[in-house]
Amino acid sequence: MAKTYDPQNIFAKILRGEIPNKTVLETEHSLAFHDIAPQAPHHVLVIPKGAYVCYDDFALEASEAEIVDFTRAVGEVCRMLGVQPGEGGAGFRLISNAGDNGLQEVPHLHVHILAGRRLGRMLP
Ligand code: C5P
Repeated sequence: MAKTYDPQNIFAKILRGEIPNKTVLETEHSLAFHDIAPQAPHHVLVIPKGAYVCYDDFALEASEAEIVDFTRAVGEVCRMLGVQPGEGGAGFRLISNAGDNGLQEVPHLHVHILAGRRLGRMLP
């Protein structure tokens, strides 16, 4: 069941142009911008323009056009950053936190792209 979307969340404000952001890529259905508090040399957030709280909402309720656009935007940003493995880049990590246990701070779906240094192990 979908979570209630709060239109006052900070990424909704970014999408409405009420708060500035450092845009990396804008597509029809997605926006990518630099994280305000980077945790790695490259730290970009990719969000869908639609009102989705987290991944399951998006994956199950978004249109195929939105899903394709968002998925491709994530891949395109990785290529723009030059971090794709095997072609001069050294790899990256994608993270999408969801809900309380996932420590999601901003209740609008976002994928973190982290790259530019060797990242610590996340799973045991
Ligand atoms: O996954 P989570 O919800 O915890 O991450 C939210 C991210 O949004 C944080 O990395 C934070 O630095 C970032 N942020 C941002 N610009 C804002 C507010 C938060 O890039 N104005």
